[in-house]
Amino acid sequence: MAHAVKKIVIVGGGFAGINFVKQLGKDNRFQVTLVDKNNYHFFPPLLYQVASAFIEPSNISYPFRRMFEGKSNLHYHYGSLLKVNPGNNTIETDTGILEYDFLVLAIGTETNYFGMENVRQHSRPMKTIDDAINLRNHLLLNMEKASLINDRAEKESLLNIVIAGGGPSGVEIAGMLAEMRQNIATIEYPEIKGILSHIHLIDASPHLLGPMSSKAQKAAFKVLNQLGVKVKLNTAVKDYKDGKVLLADGEMIATKSLIWTSGVIAREVPGLPPDVTGRGRRILVDEFNKVKDTQNIFAIGDICLQVTDNNYPGGHPQLAQVAIQQGSLLAQNFRRQASGKPLKPFSYNDKGSMAIISKYEAVADLPKVSFTGFFAWLIWLFVHIIPLVGFRNKVKLAFSWFWSFITNNPTLRLIIRPGKQEN
Ligand SMILES: Cc1cc2nc3c(=O)[nH]c(=O)nc-3n(C[C@H](O)[C@H](O)[C@H](O)COP(=O)(O)OP(=O)(O)OC[C@H]3O[C@@H](n4cnc5c(N)ncnc54)[C@H](O)[C@@H]3O)c2cc1C
Repeated sequence: MAHAVKKIVIVGGGFAGINFVKQLGKDNRFQVTLVDKNNYHFFPPLLYQVASAFIEPSNISYPFRRMFEGKSNLHYHYGSLLKVNPGNNTIETDTGILEYDFLVLAIGTETNYFGMENVRQHSRPMKTIDDAINLRNHLLLNMEKASLINDRAEKESLLNIVIAGGGPSGVEIAGMLAEMRQNIATIEYPEIKGILSHIHLIDASPHLLGPMSSKAQKAAFKVLNQLGVKVKLNTAVKDYKDGKVLLADGEMIATKSLIWTSGVIAREVPGLPPDVTGRGRRILVDEFNKVKDTQNIFAIGDICLQVTDNNYPGGHPQLAQVAIQQGSLLAQNFRRQASGKPLKPFSYNDKGSMAIISKYEAVADLPKVSFTGFFAWLIWLFVHIIPLVGFRNKVKLAFSWFWSFITNNPTLRLIIRPGKQEN
């Protein structure tokens, strides 16, 4: 006798979500509906290149409906999750109610401002494509504003940039903005030539690139110093008001641009049983990614906290590879269960981490070896093209990079502000 087709609703089409869905395409034992508030998947590790006008947003984004073409058991629902109702197996979204047999939560994290309201209101996050485009417009607009005025202090404040957070995103955008300042700003904006403005990178911990090897940390510090970035460690950002960033040691930096890459917190999911969240508001799951105290609800990727992996008793780092591997394994476990096979518990296979610091300079920590410099940079390029969704995106990105690296001058510095005036 044929088994009934199971309805799976998965919320969130990031790394975890699409790797889950990919495994179930064309398996007609499941009807899978992906809910996402954007109609596209995107690649966060390259957001900083969009924010600094180095590549176009479309280079790193791909529409879900295109991804699902030809797979009749995969569906896309445009909407934002509002609430889960475990009692009647439904979720509420801002565009309707959906029923499920199994629910998978994969909506990741949001920017964490650690309760600093002024920072939340006035800084610039870099978490989504919208954030990156807003940041790009803001930085370009400030250069134009600075070109129009004569007051030196005001010019400096428009051109100073403070980046809070010395993890890979902070390091990468600091390096890229410093290079753009050297290669582009001084040539295309003669009105701001000679103005003493700075890029500051601030981190509360004693090292840049916290979880990476000390070799990578030192290399990042050295290269950023050479590029003129003012790196300040062991110092937290405390406030941002009246156009000044206040640091824990009392220093104030006048700037119209505070870029916030300092931390994340899991997105809230109203309606789940009480006591299912742990550190960083992450949802507690078992070794099969099933949410604590539920029967048919799962959580994967950045949003979940799994402490059953012997090598990661405190939970996994919130990284793309963890999300990818959890998404794939959960889908495989659904298929195993449907075939009467035993389920496999999750165990993270760490493939290493890397960050690019400037043109021809990157740092790479692979499982058995760490290296820096040009070779690491080449590997970084390769590693960041392969996982992009869509062959056209890979070719477009490779061409954009090739062109930008040989000319030192990407030509995307357009200020496009649909419908919203920036103040
Ligand atoms: C700027 C930046 C750089 C990074 N660089 C690296 C790196 O170099 N290497 C690395 O390993 N990791 C990096 N990360 C971390 C990595 O991106 C995450 O670990 C990974 O994206 C987690 O995948 P996920 O699927 O859990 O969540 P996400 O990729 O965040 O996906 C969440 C999805 O849920 C959707 N969503 C959110 N809220 C709702 C809602 N209410 N309703 C419906 N849909 C919703 C979003 O639109 C999104 O599609 C970086 C992250 C950022 C922000």
